[in-house]
Amino acid sequence: MSDQEFNPVAGHPVHLADGLRLILAPNPSPMTYQGTNTYLLGHKLIAVIDPGPDNDEHLAAIHAAAGDGDISYIIVTHAHLDHSPLARRLSTQTGAPIYGYGPAVAGRSAIMQRLAGQGLAGGGEGIDVDFGPDVVIASGDCVITDEWTLEALHTPGHIGNHLCLIWGDTVFTGDHVMGWASSLVSPPDGDLTDFMSSCEKLARIDARIYFPGHGAPVTNPKDADRMAYRAPSPA
Ligand SMILES: [Zn+2]
Repeated sequence: MSDQEFNPVAGHPVHLADGLRLILAPNPSPMTYQGTNTYLLGHKLIAVIDPGPDNDEHLAAIHAAAGDGDISYIIVTHAHLDHSPLARRLSTQTGAPIYGYGPAVAGRSAIMQRLAGQGLAGGGEGIDVDFGPDVVIASGDCVITDEWTLEALHTPGHIGNHLCLIWGDTVFTGDHVMGWASSLVSPPDGDLTDFMSSCEKLARIDARIYFPGHGAPVTNPKDADRMAYRAPSPA
């Protein structure tokens, strides 16, 4: 599917595969394209992947799409304001725990920690400083139900606490690989060296399709792996 063919309407679920739906959040912008892709995986026990920005309509749309299913897991790819903030309200309403790699500064590389400690100015775009998972997961950790299994893959680079989530021969790639543009790597939260090694890690999965945090499903992952970087635009 190309980005031209991918035209979801915010709040209206799009069926992508058996047990997988996408709901576009109503937050289009130059950084988010049409908006954030929230994924609902499962029929009875539902994982919500990247609930999105703290927005009443989007929260209602997630509940409506879940229908008779139980929202039992909330999994956040990374602590950016367009992906994680709604997790807390959704968790309070459903009792579902929030899974993630850690708070926003978790997974920062040693060199970026040092630069930040030395007062590196800039960066910090869109960080959800309040984010904190209830359950910390890292590479190799799995969430397993009767219906589906998700395996975490730590992919720092866009931000240190970024996770991709492997589901069979597909991967939810968050902002590590996006459908419409290459990723943003902005120090000190972003780290290009980490980003490149995360691209190699992801390429070794040899997935058939990527479901990104923004834009259309990526049906040519091999090309996407090579073109997944763009420099931060000047402020
Ligand atoms: Zn992001």
